[in-house]
Amino acid sequence: MDDERWMSRAVELAHRSPRSSSAFAVGAVIVGPDGVEIARGWSRDVDPMVHAEESALLRANVDLRQATLYSSLEPCSKRSSRPDATCTSLIIAAGIPRVVLAWREPDLFVTCEGVALLTAAGVEVVELPAFAERARAANAHLL
Ligand SMILES: [Zn+2]
Repeated sequence: MDDERWMSRAVELAHRSPRSSSAFAVGAVIVGPDGVEIARGWSRDVDPMVHAEESALLRANVDLRQATLYSSLEPCSKRSSRPDATCTSLIIAAGIPRVVLAWREPDLFVTCEGVALLTAAGVEVVELPAFAERARAANAHLL
């Protein structure tokens, strides 16, 4: 399965994120059903507030109803900077049917319910805990 390869890419992108004392460093990749990358993003890559999944979604101008989104961190479900645009709600709105994540968001800034909300919306959520340590390492300054 290619999940490991794409998650490895997402974790690499997380490490590119400019560090912030108030937000996680995250990487995300959206992959089509043909196994080809559609878009990628990382925290604060295009503006100081943008999230990795949001950034990738903004660049993905195709039908995502068969795509998989890989994220190094659980997609956010509460967001102080843009309360109406959590990554969880953006993923659901885009119709993405499958999300693969490495690391569940720790209760540092908010309590994250991304996995529960995605699952409730019918999105298949796969966790790859083998990548959690590397995803966490991009955030060592916060923890
Ligand atoms: Zn987010």
